[in-house]
Amino acid sequence: MANIKTEEYPVIWLQGATCTGCSVSVLNSVSPTIKNVLVDEVIPGKHVNLRFQATVMAGAGELVIKALEETWKAKKGGYVLVMEGAIPTKGDGAYGSIGEDKEGKPVSIDSRVENLGRDALAVIALGTCASFGGIPAAKPNPSECVSVGQLFKSRNVTTPLINVPGCPPHPDWFVGTVASVLLNGLPKEGELDEWSRPRAFYGQLIHENCPRRAYYDEQKFAKKLSDPGCLYELGCKGPVTHADCPLRMWNNGVNWCVACGGLCIGCAAPGFPDLVSPMYAKTADITLPNIGQRVV
Ligand code: SF4
Ligand code: SF4
Repeated sequence: MANIKTEEYPVIWLQGATCTGCSVSVLNSVSPTIKNVLVDEVIPGKHVNLRFQATVMAGAGELVIKALEETWKAKKGGYVLVMEGAIPTKGDGAYGSIGEDKEGKPVSIDSRVENLGRDALAVIALGTCASFGGIPAAKPNPSECVSVGQLFKSRNVTTPLINVPGCPPHPDWFVGTVASVLLNGLPKEGELDEWSRPRAFYGQLIHENCPRRAYYDEQKFAKKLSDPGCLYELGCKGPVTHADCPLRMWNNGVNWCVACGGLCIGCAAPGFPDLVSPMYAKTADITLPNIGQRVV
């Protein structure tokens, strides 16, 4: 039998200003399961080698920082950096650090992301906080949190960046993005949109595929959340939020926000939460790109 060599793809997964909900969402991946992703070859012949992930790794302290730094040095240009959470930039690590340097000084999250990002093959910003700043960067933003893209721009890091927003992101959006990179390499021109999101998952507005869309077209609006009818007047952000929730649904295809009587709060949109607030009010005066456009 031919000896098929498995290619290893080292992954370093950092967490900044985050609730860890993105990790929890990805851990709930059903098809493939997270065990398939981490232990098996998610793509035949290709294995994701998760070298550092604070929520799931068994080790702690110096041991895991050593693993992180060894991967960084040994696999320069060959590992994928996943960033979960926004990046506090104020106070030289006062708002978050990952390990210590040789002198015992905490290494700030922003310098970790900058240095590891600069030497990575590609960076995946997982969740709205890493992609756009999200809740940690909402006003008044006391820790001066930024997204990965903003940090890279300010520090001249040009490593390819893929944003996978959502609060949290659907596990398929992340696993599908990783699988696509393993299968096809870095995204080709046109596969990402102007916000560096994979068009495969974020190519359409929620509103385009919503089962309540016929109500919208007939101007039949719900007066309260339990009513039938379109939820636009109650604040639904589906007309300005790009994601495939109505088609893919959540919890292994069981349900999604609008179908269960809630509304889309725009959790995957750039500018969430400030620019989509107040969440339970009509989106009339929002100036975010695409906000205010009603696709009819
Ligand atoms: S406004 Fe919201 S509830 Fe109404 S059709 Fe669009 S996505 Fe669906
Ligand atoms: S429907 Fe809207 S609020 Fe709900 S998960 Fe999708 S993007 Fe987020």
